[in-house]
Amino acid sequence: MAHIDAGKTTTTERILFYTGITYKIGEVHDGGATMDWMEQEQERGITITSAATTCWWKDHQINIIDTPGHVDFTAEVERSLRVLDGAVAVFDGVAGVEPQTMTVWRQANKYSVPRMCFVNKLDRTGADFFRCVDMMVERLNSTPLVLQLPIGAESDFLGVVDLVGMRALTWRGETTMGEDYEIEEIPAELAEQAAEYREKFLETLSEADDEIMLKYLEGEDFTVEELEAAIRRATLADKVNPVLCGTAFKNKGVQPLLDAVVKYLPSPIDVEGITGHAVNDEEKPVVRKPSDDEPFSGLAYKIAADPHLGKLTYVRVYSGKLEAGATVTNSVNGRKERIGKVYQMHANKREEIASVGAGQIVAVMGLKDTKTGHTLCDPQNQVVLESMTFPAPVIEVA
Ligand code: GDP
Repeated sequence: MAHIDAGKTTTTERILFYTGITYKIGEVHDGGATMDWMEQEQERGITITSAATTCWWKDHQINIIDTPGHVDFTAEVERSLRVLDGAVAVFDGVAGVEPQTMTVWRQANKYSVPRMCFVNKLDRTGADFFRCVDMMVERLNSTPLVLQLPIGAESDFLGVVDLVGMRALTWRGETTMGEDYEIEEIPAELAEQAAEYREKFLETLSEADDEIMLKYLEGEDFTVEELEAAIRRATLADKVNPVLCGTAFKNKGVQPLLDAVVKYLPSPIDVEGITGHAVNDEEKPVVRKPSDDEPFSGLAYKIAADPHLGKLTYVRVYSGKLEAGATVTNSVNGRKERIGKVYQMHANKREEIASVGAGQIVAVMGLKDTKTGHTLCDPQNQVVLESMTFPAPVIEVA
């Protein structure tokens, strides 16, 4: 999520490009094929055309949902925030916290979405990482947990100091897309600043996490694993927002960002479950756990027209299994719907799948009477996941 122009699309495209390479390497174990694929993609360029794109990063599946960064789409933003488990807010390192970031951040507060921050465009003239972090406190009333410091600035932006591992990650010289970073010692001229920010990091983390607080007060050292586990706990509890930085433009910082997504944001099966309500009784709560063994429930959160496939309904599966060819009930209008083909959308292809489980996000063909915000569920075990009064009106206060 981001204000328009902060670099959300570019960052996502870099992620898809980068994860696409690893995905391909994992698949074919052939360097030549990987290069072919890279060249092909570089020629065509990767553009996100799908409302949910699936990618793989180090054995983890990540579904990326785009949240439109424009005020006109507030209802759509709310709906996408509702179906995602965690978010990365992208900031323009020059402009800092912009009005649309404030709006979307407030909306995410409503659903307690765990969030990380990526301060982008550090290569730009006038970029100021620290000013951006200050603005996160002032304008978003958030608790930034700074995990990285920039090394160099503007055209000399070289890499980041990793305050968790106390080391430097650098991208020296001209980077090509897909190139990895080098791990080095923290540059001597940044040693003092790094020590100061490491202390701030530990203070903020200990205020959010009792385990860290106890050890911190006793002056004990921490292992990287301990710190990472605490960052995850504090992020999932929505007590802190880990802050990373880089430039999507030159592909500096994207791999550590992906690592952080995997480490600190929740998996859909980590969440406790979703509370909906019974059909015809808004007062009666019904809870569905994120397990394949529960009855099927899913939320249609976006309808889109695909140039090849026609009308696609994007569904987030909350519980049970969604199977191609199955008959489900739309619990909002009471109609039966037959699930047509089910697709997982990747950056460079779509994959038809027979069945998906809890936590997945897929595009479904063939739905006739289902609109955004409608619940699809097991005919024998019905639930309404989203009240029809959604979204609540957003009142902008100047
Ligand atoms: P979105 O509206 O948030 O999706 O932003 P885009 O990804 O479309 O980026 C907006 C503009 O900023 C485009 O012209 C990008 O090329 C440019 N841009 C994106 N990331 C960076 C960056 O890290 N550095 C610089 N200098 N420009 C960037």
